[in-house]
Amino acid sequence: MSDQLPYTGLTLDRAGANRADASWLADLLAHPDSTVIPYWRDQVLASGGRPLWTGAEIVHRHPESKINRHPTPIDWPRAVPPGQGGGCAGVFAGLGDGDEVAVDVDGPVVGDVWGRAVFLGIRGEAGVFALDLSEMDEQAALRFAGADSVVDVRRLVSGLDPDEAACLAYARGLLHWNRNQRFCGACGSAAAASQGGHLRTCEGCGKLLFPRIEPAVIVLVEFGDRCLLGRHRGAAPNAFSTLAGFVEIGESLEDAVRREVAEEAGVAVGDVVYRASQAWPFPAGLMLGFRAVATSPDISVDREELTEARWFTRAEVIALQQEHVAAGTHRGDSIERYLVDRWLAGADP
Ligand SMILES: [Zn+2]
Repeated sequence: MSDQLPYTGLTLDRAGANRADASWLADLLAHPDSTVIPYWRDQVLASGGRPLWTGAEIVHRHPESKINRHPTPIDWPRAVPPGQGGGCAGVFAGLGDGDEVAVDVDGPVVGDVWGRAVFLGIRGEAGVFALDLSEMDEQAALRFAGADSVVDVRRLVSGLDPDEAACLAYARGLLHWNRNQRFCGACGSAAAASQGGHLRTCEGCGKLLFPRIEPAVIVLVEFGDRCLLGRHRGAAPNAFSTLAGFVEIGESLEDAVRREVAEEAGVAVGDVVYRASQAWPFPAGLMLGFRAVATSPDISVDREELTEARWFTRAEVIALQQEHVAAGTHRGDSIERYLVDRWLAGADP
């Protein structure tokens, strides 16, 4: 039972104190060892089933130029035990203010480099960036980056070094936010990116826009030696899961846990204890994991979100997991797996 949750434990230095320095970022982008992760509409560009890392020159590449892979491809160690992994190669996806970048093979040259490239961090002397090719169509993006497919990082995660998975998730989330925050919500003017894509400033009213993160609680509720699992509307007959929901404005995390469990399953909860968190930038989540103890076994399902909710023994949960493994429907990358496995092991009573 691993204590390291997928998409956590990033070792890349985010260099937050430096990224407001445009000349520092421009120099970093010119470093020969700096790397870029190209993305297309929330999917990483891949080659031979591996995420593609390119040299930073891709950010300045002319549409007609020859494809030029990074001269020293990042070779991530495989199956490295948690805590012993190599450092994150990093994603450098940004350019200096005022630079122009061509990212459309067939269309117009695209300006506003920091609107499409983001700075992820540094590893040693080199920068790591990510580049958004979403304005191209898929085939153009593949040709431009020299990739053969696009794929969601969640489909690759089981074969990735944990540090690389955390890097790719970070890149996906930051690019997604930039792509969806091009305008100010207050006055509707365009919002220009700076600080390597970690800040956007409204060109009309000056409002500062920071990357948005949406917190959600996920909870394993127990009563005696059983735990509460629910099945969502439209889900497969054996698709039971722990309860989860977004935190609302004006609500503490503990309040959110009690509300979600009461709303969805009609179960009253007493003690609520925080256990762990997980970055979940798909597209903007932060998962906050809890254990909670019900004050009664009574269940009253709302029927809006859940079809049913039941108390499961450990033997029943194990049997359910085995069914999913056999059917290929088991997804092990979420914090739910962590909460359930620790409950099965009798940890965190
Ligand atoms: Zn504004």
